[in-house]
Amino acid sequence: MNHYADVVLPVPLPGLFTYALPESLATQAQAGCRVSVPFGNKRTTVGLIARLHDTAPKGVDLKTVIDLIDTSPVILPQQMMLWQWIADYYICSIGEVFKAALPAKLKALPKASRRSHSGKSAKGLSDAEATASVSPDTLQHLPASSLPVLSPAQTDAIAAIRLAWQQHPVCLLQGVTSSGKTELYIHLIDEAIRRGGQVLYLLPEIVLTSQLTDRLRAVFGERLGVYHSKFSDKERAEVWHRQLSAQPYDIIVGVRSSVFLPFQRLGLVIVDEEHEVNFKQQEPAPRYNARNVAIMMAARAGALTLLGTATPSFESYYNARLGKYGLVQLTERYGQVQLPEIEVVDVSELRRKRLMQGPFSPQLLDAMQAALQAGEQVILFQNRRGYAPQVQCHICGWVPRCPHCDVPLTLHKRSGRITCHYCGYTTEIPLQCPACENPDLRGHGFGTERIEDDLARLFPTARVARMDLDTTRTRTAYEQIIDDFSCHRTDILVGTQMVTKGLDFEHVSVVGILSADTMLHQPDFRAYERSFQMMSQVAGRAGRRQRQGRVFLQTMDANLPLIHHVVAADYEAAYREQMLERREFSYPPFTRFIIVYLKHRTASTVDALAREATLLLRRHFGTRVLGPDEPPVARIQSLYIRRIILKLEHAIPLAQARHLLLETRTQLLSQRLYSAAHIYFDVDPL
Ligand code: ADP
Ligand code: ZN
Ligand code: ZN
Repeated sequence: MNHYADVVLPVPLPGLFTYALPESLATQAQAGCRVSVPFGNKRTTVGLIARLHDTAPKGVDLKTVIDLIDTSPVILPQQMMLWQWIADYYICSIGEVFKAALPAKLKALPKASRRSHSGKSAKGLSDAEATASVSPDTLQHLPASSLPVLSPAQTDAIAAIRLAWQQHPVCLLQGVTSSGKTELYIHLIDEAIRRGGQVLYLLPEIVLTSQLTDRLRAVFGERLGVYHSKFSDKERAEVWHRQLSAQPYDIIVGVRSSVFLPFQRLGLVIVDEEHEVNFKQQEPAPRYNARNVAIMMAARAGALTLLGTATPSFESYYNARLGKYGLVQLTERYGQVQLPEIEVVDVSELRRKRLMQGPFSPQLLDAMQAALQAGEQVILFQNRRGYAPQVQCHICGWVPRCPHCDVPLTLHKRSGRITCHYCGYTTEIPLQCPACENPDLRGHGFGTERIEDDLARLFPTARVARMDLDTTRTRTAYEQIIDDFSCHRTDILVGTQMVTKGLDFEHVSVVGILSADTMLHQPDFRAYERSFQMMSQVAGRAGRRQRQGRVFLQTMDANLPLIHHVVAADYEAAYREQMLERREFSYPPFTRFIIVYLKHRTASTVDALAREATLLLRRHFGTRVLGPDEPPVARIQSLYIRRIILKLEHAIPLAQARHLLLETRTQLLSQRLYSAAHIYFDVDPL
């Protein structure tokens, strides 16, 4: 019998924790079951049994498992293996993965465990039994008639995907906006579940709308489960249990965290809008890219993967070009509607001639006017939320800044406050400039809130909706905005990058990109790629049915090659141009980046730490170490931030790099001066 359990605990410490198993639990315990265990100052913590064994650890004072929470595993062996891969690849602890993976309800101590353990007290699958109430008979039936009839181009694309899969388990589908990628997915999902496989349909956080789930539910009915971070924790725990049951959902539509769900027989993974940056988790660890994890997950399960988008990430396109992925291109829109016509508007010239009305060019205003009169809709894209990105005293130049972060505060006029977009710090708009007492403080630049105000003035009868982080705090608010616009209860939708995501509206004839420049001038080597993607995507919202749409692209830099590529819808040219630069500077995808983040409350300490860390890392990695430097926002929540960038050739084994990085971190944190510092790693940062 096994008397010891190696347990995963939801903590950033590396490795597993060995506990003794009391005789009474040893018979029932299995890997993948949760336990309650004593840990640290907290009386009790929920942990996960990774393995059971009978080898007494030497020289340690063992603590004992308090109770067994499950009688059968709630985490499958393949999940555990994937989590370990995530922890290794993204250089964090498996405990951090465990913490990110489980819905809160599954990490909480169940009341049952306070009782003495008996078979009955174990919880686990009891929830699943309650929700898996659909009878197997209803599941057998698939209404094949509701599958969309594919166009010839779509039929060819499906055939090409099947063919590509014979050579490569991963296929990249580059289909122009409105080519009907969703309809292709529906067919491929249908095929996969007929083969008995389960399907994971992964979407970036914000795209998951009722628009799409309704469409899928119409075809797949009860076989479809949805997993979203804005769903209640209870709902998410239910999906989890259902996936463990004898009747799991065949299809899960979900956001990045759905890669953590249990799948018993995964057959197909679809990553829609695969280029989306928010597949990458930034904070906290694990800083994983759900697209890449999904590819790994599929590979381990022997499943197929389809990456779909109109504007592939340059990294995926590169992989396809290298022959690592299959590549299928769908170049015509469904119904042969033409791609929108993009008109470049030179804002610098119009400014000189004083012809701009705030953020609007006369061309855009005219087109909007005409569209509204014709009963059509308009989408406006501005990549800044709030009223004005900053407030400035026009007499002395004073700018209010966040006391905790190194950024100016953004003006939010509706709430009468100025707010930090990094830490949430907020305060009232000062009545006068604290430096010169000027009472007339003004906002500079245009945020979505201000554009909404301008629209009310310029188009007093139009119904305007705004979609940004501030108006979509809840799932219902978000869906309401989309629903209203879809049903034409609103005429103009103004928003941040949220409006660029794969939404399908029927009556949009005009799209305005108010300022291409704010995107282009981000201090990031991916700014070019992102700008191309965002502009192409938002342009793709125009003229999706029947008629060609018009897009107005306002910029100060009308001659940039990138702008020409967007206008010509020439992805290939944008890609080639950018790859020359990436190759020259050895940027990804030609190398792998790992950013080492260093944080401390004291600027001088973090500077000393960064210098010392750089020296240590140079010993191992030589000239592959860049920095240290300050990130664009060098102080967040009172912590000063420095970073060191590691640029590694693909030939360097990641395991070796990880080992050296962890060793260096341990060495640094063991010094008294740095003991309060935070050091962490971001692998493949986005
Ligand atoms: P994409 O995801 O490529 O941008 P969608 O899948 O949203 O495109 O399709 C664009 C529009 O065309 C949608 O309204 C969709 O319903 C319609 N459509 C695409 N293919 C078909 C088809 N085979 N039959 C009927 N409608 C289709
Ligand atoms: Zn002043
Ligand atoms: Zn702040």
